[in-house]
Amino acid sequence: MKHSFKHISLSLALGVTAAIAVLLGLSRAIGLIGGYIWIAVPVIVFVTVIVMTERMVAKRIHFAIDDLRKIERREFAEVDANIDGRDELSELRTVIESTGRTLEKEITAMRRLESYRRDFLGNVSHELKTPIFSIRGFAETLRDGALEKPGVRESFVEKIIKNADRLSHLAQDLTEIAKIETGELKMKPVKFSLAVLIQEVIESVEPRARNKEMQIRTEVPADLPKVLADESRIRQVLSNLVENGIKYTNPGGLITIRTERDKGDVVITVRDNGIGIAPEHQLRITERFYRVDASRSREQGGTGLGLAIVKHILNAHGSRLVLDSAVGKGSTFEFRLPVA
Ligand code: ADP
Repeated sequence: MKHSFKHISLSLALGVTAAIAVLLGLSRAIGLIGGYIWIAVPVIVFVTVIVMTERMVAKRIHFAIDDLRKIERREFAEVDANIDGRDELSELRTVIESTGRTLEKEITAMRRLESYRRDFLGNVSHELKTPIFSIRGFAETLRDGALEKPGVRESFVEKIIKNADRLSHLAQDLTEIAKIETGELKMKPVKFSLAVLIQEVIESVEPRARNKEMQIRTEVPADLPKVLADESRIRQVLSNLVENGIKYTNPGGLITIRTERDKGDVVITVRDNGIGIAPEHQLRITERFYRVDASRSREQGGTGLGLAIVKHILNAHGSRLVLDSAVGKGSTFEFRLPVA
């Protein structure tokens, strides 16, 4: 490449110089000019053409080639982003630079997806193993003699059912998160009453709350306006937060669901007086499969996906989950929805 361009510039210089030399030679022959001008001018032209093509074209083409080589080696940060000039060669370098940036973004996104897939598969298989091993363990114990022991027998069968339920929750949550994260899930905003929804959620968790002798209190103003959001998804968010309140609060605890108008929004808070979440875990609890205490979560039938789903649903509504919590005191989860 380098040599062939030298060849072109040399031929160009020779061509132009020869033409000028012939013209000047003829001029001298007929006496129009005298002295050595007919030689001096072509020599100057020759040198100028060589220097100019080298400086203005060859050097800049080599810059472009260097940039392409950097992109080839994936050294995106090294590609020169400050390109002066408005001619075609400057445009060529600008296009090379922006192509590099696009490529870099796509490669980063692909790598992130790849590592997400790897982590996700690892987490899923880990989550599947625990209930499957438990089911197998209980079934083997039953087979090896526990079947004959009334009392033990029933409790083992109950444990097998509980673990099968966990697998089924996991399958449901996995389908849900996969849909949400691949963007398949579209929110369908409608106008609805939060007061009614909150009552329905409380009714659905009532048996669990009663089992733990927990109280659920509401603070919903009578004139609360309707909100605009996907009703079934917000039901899922509220159920999840209230269920977590029940799961992570000791028996006899209190959960308060409060709504309050704040300008164009309704602020919804779910507060418990449970075990609380230490500051170092607070930023991470909405990550997939992240749990503060994995065995407590599993014991309560948790999959570690609930808050990840909640976060996605709220983000899809342009809202976000805000947490305020202190260990031993309890947790408050807050989010906003627009007034309809
Ligand atoms: P899980 O299925 O484990 O409950 P979540 O995604 O709903 O999964 O919650 C993630 C983790 O956050 C839980 O395992 C728990 O450690 C913590 N957590 C969630 N809600 C509460 C709460 N109200 N009080 C204390 N800890 C909580």
